[in-house]
Amino acid sequence: MQFTSDNNLALEFAVHIANTNRRGIEQLQTPDQLDRTLDEYGFTGRRDHTQSELQEVKKWRDQLRALWLFDEDELTDALNRILAHHHATPQLLEHDGYSWHFHATPLDAPLVDRLAVEAAMALADVVRAGETERLGVCQAEDCDNILFDFTKNRSRRFCATGGCANRAHVAAFRARRG
Ligand SMILES: [Zn+2]
Ligand SMILES: [Zn+2]
Repeated sequence: MQFTSDNNLALEFAVHIANTNRRGIEQLQTPDQLDRTLDEYGFTGRRDHTQSELQEVKKWRDQLRALWLFDEDELTDALNRILAHHHATPQLLEHDGYSWHFHATPLDAPLVDRLAVEAAMALADVVRAGETERLGVCQAEDCDNILFDFTKNRSRRFCATGGCANRAHVAAFRARRG
């Protein structure tokens, strides 16, 4: 599986990996760290475990983050470019115990192609659904993590990592107390 049947998981994973180099801490320093991140989300398929693979993934990560800051027209242009650039080719696959499902790239395509296409397909679904307002940036003063707002009433303001909601709450409490 590469989440093709689960768009929300693909979006969660995109947000997670996009935020792996924030607040001055690089969490993808080694191929092993990348492995653990992929395993955590059950991302299958080819992995080369090389420095060059890691560098490609990190380069893509920065482009992924940039998508969050685009308006809808810029985002759709970028998604179309990404799908073409990374050779997206929809096909039905059966593997690792999963019955027939869609993949937009072959399992033996380079990791960065599969990551980029998976994220782009998930974001394309967000565009199709008219939900691009759900792409956001954490509003904590000291954090610029990206987030995807899954809440019903689009009320999410803080990222899931780093305890931002809690810090903001404490700061507001202190400010009220004067
Ligand atoms: Zn699959
Ligand atoms: Zn945050």
